[in-house]
Amino acid sequence: MNPVFADLPTSVFEVMSRLARETGAINLGQGFPDDPGPADIRARGAEALRDGFNQYPPMMGLPALRRAIAAHYAHHQGLILDPETEVMVTSGATEALAGALLALIEPGDEVVLFEPLYDAYLPLVRRAGGVPRIVTLRPPAFRLDAEALAEAFSARTRVVLLNNPLNPSATLFGAEDLALLAGFCQRFDAVAVCDEVWEHVVFDGRHHQSLIALPGMRERTVKIGSAGKIFSLTGWKVGFVMAEARLMRGLAKAHQYLTFTTPPNLQEAVAYGLAREDAYFTGMRRDFARARDRLAAGLGALGVTVLPSQATYFLNIDIADLGWGDDVAFCEALVRRHGVAAIPVSAFYAASPVRNLVRLCFAKADATLDTALERMSVLA
Ligand code: PMP
Ligand code: GLN
Repeated sequence: MNPVFADLPTSVFEVMSRLARETGAINLGQGFPDDPGPADIRARGAEALRDGFNQYPPMMGLPALRRAIAAHYAHHQGLILDPETEVMVTSGATEALAGALLALIEPGDEVVLFEPLYDAYLPLVRRAGGVPRIVTLRPPAFRLDAEALAEAFSARTRVVLLNNPLNPSATLFGAEDLALLAGFCQRFDAVAVCDEVWEHVVFDGRHHQSLIALPGMRERTVKIGSAGKIFSLTGWKVGFVMAEARLMRGLAKAHQYLTFTTPPNLQEAVAYGLAREDAYFTGMRRDFARARDRLAAGLGALGVTVLPSQATYFLNIDIADLGWGDDVAFCEALVRRHGVAAIPVSAFYAASPVRNLVRLCFAKADATLDTALERMSVLA
């Protein structure tokens, strides 16, 4: 067994979801909506399955989907992508991340990462032979700063892996952060892998900005998206990779031997969905923001400190003064004794843990949030 994987614990998302199932708890842990997702997109997927989209599609993705992805990003982010050479479909953002890291990293290359870290990043970087250089971002702002970047980057830096919007902090890196990072990438000749799966789930009139759109970054950025988050269909695992053709050639080789293709009926349905009017995206953001506000107001009424949530399905609470111990002890007690599953944020830190934050998923029906709040009234 490769030592990187041999001793890894089971992902906190799986552990918490299993505990929630076993204890009958309300699951505000793993990030998924309890809504079944857009009916017409699901119907299109079912129709496609019935109508013959069942054999291997082209390796890079259905042409209709690649064209739809290019059109989608041209419309929403002003990115001009060639669907033939600069767009690839993967089995979720997870495959895209694994493939990008395998393709880009040579053993011994340094990889700059930011914690809180999405759980897949560090094991994948290590397994690809990368040497992680972790920059710790601190609540409540989770901003980049020049001093920390200067310490992390070196002549050996090959890749920087950025998650924007950032899960679990629910923050969005803005123009200043991105310009700073772009400068470092260019100065040290590094490739940026940008996990932007939450790009559409941003609130209060905010706009997600892609690092790839910054001057000098087009040829050194790999942008990753996911239909799972765009359409609230997290189990579908249809991801996208965007990069200029030279980078894409290497990324495509990783994809060729990881999964090769992604279920064609789902690709067909996602192609159909991507053409949606702007109203869908503003409606989705409004609905999630309402759910966020409902949970935040309920927690506030219990006297719990809620950190601002600018994006994603999540908000974080500060449990330092609640007297239940650290975040892990808090989540254990909350799920086992009070029937609500949540995620301890220390699970996202490797170098310098933060132990007073707990992540809650608000992408749930009002009644579910209200019941969870009733159960959490023990916090008052
Ligand atoms: N990156 C981040 C930051 C995520 O939060 C998630 C899961 N929501 C993923 C990647 C995985 O995306 P997918 O389900 O498309 O593999
Ligand atoms: N992205 C989801 C979250 O942050 C979980 C994905 C997973 O279970 N691997 O909750």
